[in-house]
Amino acid sequence: MEVLRAKTAGFCMGVDLALRKLKALLKDNGGVRRIYTFGPIIHNPQVLEAYAAKGVRIAEDPKAIEADSHVVIRAHGVPRATVAALLAKGIQVVDATCPKVKRAQLLIAEQAGEGRTLLLYGEADHPEVRGLLSHGGEGSMVFGDLDELEALPLDPDRAYFLAAQTTQDTAEFVHVRRFLSRKLGKEIPVLDTICGATRERQDEAVELARQVDVMVVAGGFTSGNTRRLAKIARDAGTPCLHVETPDQLDADLLRGKKIGLTAGASTPKDIIDAIYRTLTEL
Ligand code: SF4
Repeated sequence: MEVLRAKTAGFCMGVDLALRKLKALLKDNGGVRRIYTFGPIIHNPQVLEAYAAKGVRIAEDPKAIEADSHVVIRAHGVPRATVAALLAKGIQVVDATCPKVKRAQLLIAEQAGEGRTLLLYGEADHPEVRGLLSHGGEGSMVFGDLDELEALPLDPDRAYFLAAQTTQDTAEFVHVRRFLSRKLGKEIPVLDTICGATRERQDEAVELARQVDVMVVAGGFTSGNTRRLAKIARDAGTPCLHVETPDQLDADLLRGKKIGLTAGASTPKDIIDAIYRTLTEL
């Protein structure tokens, strides 16, 4: 089978860095203190299972964590109040928030500090978005698409600024920006918070999708950036299979086709390699 594999498939800098911090902590700790990650460190069930086997627990609430524990903050960050609650309990916090998410948090806090209200383009229930909103403070609003933006009760006399979740689609964000200028009748500050890694993966996915019969996107079903890659491939008019592991590949659908393979920023190389091998052997 001919399989074109995306060069950008797999871990981005932020995920790689977060996992390296967790690995280093596991090594230094030597099994002495309990180690938690606050929320899943990345959105990939196979990686999470491997760390669970090494004793790493996942917590979603500071109250559930013992004071003498280590807590690693996931790559996509947590709300301000969560960090404050962890520190107040005397928990050792290892901040593995991706530097790009950190930058988005700081830029948002800066604009909010100047009295503007945050309009955030993102998935309301995504952990990164909850973290970003906490930096925007009171009155911050989130919307997932143009319809939701249209429905927001915006006051034309109020000062707003626009930002996006780091993994949002850049092309859509351009539409959002134009729509908002028309709706408010003025330009507002726009923060460039979409991650370059996301953009590169999205651009390459479109390029690949145009050259193949079927796209395969590898990565966690709960991973926002992986799901978006699959959507982008479908929007380019190419059928797309989103799988987490090689056994989920539908051989009947793929056999005899030219296939493009890409993967989300939280998909480990060994899983991508295994899927690639399975596809080439069909
Ligand atoms: S996708 Fe971008 S923002 Fe998210 S963890 Fe990776 S490098 Fe950081």
